[in-house]
Amino acid sequence: MNRRDIEKRAAQLLQHHGVSQAPIPIKEIAEAEGLVVVEMSFNGDISGALIRNHGSSGIAVNATQHTNRKRFTIAHELAHYLLDHKDKDEDHIDWKFTVIRRDGKSSEASDVQEIEANTFAACLLMPSHFLRADLNNQIGFNGEADLDDAHIKAMAKKYRVSEMALRFRLANLGLIPPA
Ligand SMILES: [Zn+2]
Repeated sequence: MNRRDIEKRAAQLLQHHGVSQAPIPIKEIAEAEGLVVVEMSFNGDISGALIRNHGSSGIAVNATQHTNRKRFTIAHELAHYLLDHKDKDEDHIDWKFTVIRRDGKSSEASDVQEIEANTFAACLLMPSHFLRADLNNQIGFNGEADLDDAHIKAMAKKYRVSEMALRFRLANLGLIPPA
């Protein structure tokens, strides 16, 4: 899937669930899509997992992580689920920095499906039309918004995402210069 398709898919999902403002109720969306969302005290550096269990599926997130990180993990696992990633009957575990499969193979974030899941999560939690509406008055003739640190901080708080994720997203959309 290319970036544009993922962007579209995320926007359709928000429309389907009648979401029109930030913060995106990501847990409620995942649950409405039929997934049970639970917090678990994982050992080690696990961010979360998509558990597929005889037709019923769920998302487990690491209870010790920051709320913003949990929200991103839920969105990431929801992406694997909705985009038909991996084998349907196989659990998928996401580590904080790498991904490991049940067969023991590990892969860096260069894995196509991991990149797709991260892109989908960013599109879902920070929809471009929401961001553009918020920045309407700040966007200059060059198409970029003039944002200071305080503004980024306030926006990250509103969307309940990390400042880093927000900066990355805004740069990807061409709304701020790349870092
Ligand atoms: Zn993943």
